[in-house]
Amino acid sequence: MSGRARFVIFEELQETAISATTWPSELDNKLPTTDLELLREVSQSSPDPLAVSDQQGAVLFINDVMRELIAGDELVEQAIAALAEAGSPRLLRLQQIEGGSLRRLLRIPFGNYQLITLVEQDEDPRVSRLRQRLDEALKLSITDPLTGAWNRHQFNELIRIEVPRAKRYSQPICLLLIDIDHFKKVNDDLGHAAGDQILQQLCTLVQEKIRLVDSLFRWGGEEFAVLLPNTSLAAAHFVAERLRKEVAGSRFEPVGKLAISIGVAELEQEETPQQWFERTDQALYAAKEQGRDRVVCADSDPDRLIGRVSDESPFLLAWKSSYESGHPLIDQQHQELFRLGNRLIAASLDGATSTDEFVALIDGLIEHAAQHFRDEEQIMAELDYEHLDRHHRAHNGLIERARQLGERARSGTISTGQVVRFLANDLVKQHMLTEDVAFFPQLNNPAVRSD
Ligand code: GH3
Ligand code: MG
Ligand code: MG
Repeated sequence: MSGRARFVIFEELQETAISATTWPSELDNKLPTTDLELLREVSQSSPDPLAVSDQQGAVLFINDVMRELIAGDELVEQAIAALAEAGSPRLLRLQQIEGGSLRRLLRIPFGNYQLITLVEQDEDPRVSRLRQRLDEALKLSITDPLTGAWNRHQFNELIRIEVPRAKRYSQPICLLLIDIDHFKKVNDDLGHAAGDQILQQLCTLVQEKIRLVDSLFRWGGEEFAVLLPNTSLAAAHFVAERLRKEVAGSRFEPVGKLAISIGVAELEQEETPQQWFERTDQALYAAKEQGRDRVVCADSDPDRLIGRVSDESPFLLAWKSSYESGHPLIDQQHQELFRLGNRLIAASLDGATSTDEFVALIDGLIEHAAQHFRDEEQIMAELDYEHLDRHHRAHNGLIERARQLGERARSGTISTGQVVRFLANDLVKQHMLTEDVAFFPQLNNPAVRSD
């Protein structure tokens, strides 16, 4: 190259100084990896000079505009390599000693990659336009164009993030697979456009009914998946049942009535995402086999639900079939309380009472109990249970005592005895086996009154 560019001054800027050009992108949080193909496509069609590198500093792609610049200026090529390196600043100012002109090279983090471009000023409006174009292209590449739900590619991405997270924090995570019943007939009778319209309406309905942290995916055709982080099997069953009822009770234009079948499974500690998905799919298949318009949960083996059973330790809570009320939601939630209670007891027996993990376990138990109490009271109200007020006060008392345990755990003054006493005596013996049991006959025969 010419002798023009003899050396380069790399000037590091503070992060804050370029905050206006760092564009925290909403999508970045959802997307740790970005499709390199997509970046290549967007870069190639961009009028701006662009290079793409990975986070380790390897330059993977240079677009034609940037190539032309490099061809006339070796300095830029060196600077790109330097900027791509891990730990390099966001912005480099390149000073050509003899040429005298000041140029700025900017590094834009994007998912697992980074884009490098030349800008006119430290804060160049063209860069935010570029960022916007990339966000749009990215969004298109991860959503289903018909329904706006996430696509299968994004499903795999989120599974990659959410599964290790759930395992790391010992949080439950559930998957629903939803399939429209007899959808082929809708297409056959009313045409493909009508079918498409129904798929859109269904997605709108589901999106409205799930939490912000839950995600809806179009798995293919008329099959959808819903990922429910931090959700136990019992709670996921409840969500699925609510969705099924909502669909059954809605009108879908132009067909009128529609039904869905749903398979539900909670991720198990030892299984792979693939096995988890297959179990969910089998549950969906069972729902179809059993007559459609229903929800089936994978593996409702009570021992598995409860986790460790009493043979392992005299301190652990043992579930017995005689504790069953016959109401699926109440029984699943009670079993989940046993499971969470046993985790707490096991952790305190392991001497973990002064850890953050223990506090998180108590908080998880309180959260589950509060949800269960709300659901149970709603069922009681529907059946016009005359001791509802008293039962509500009992629930409040239990939550209050659980919170006090949480406080003791936080201050490091909790003992295993206190944990076991609360769970075995207050929650199970006094409440479930006494106050709840008094209500059970009314569940199975609403005409029966407890007095
Ligand atoms: P089942 O209750 O067993 O699920 O019956 P089904 O008719 O829903 O199941 P099947 O898998 O036999 O048919 C699925 C149909 O979904 C086939 C096709 O007509 C329709 N379908 C799949 N993708 C689309 C789409 O994108 N648009 C429309 N309109 N229809 C679709
Ligand atoms: Mg179907
Ligand atoms: Mg109760």
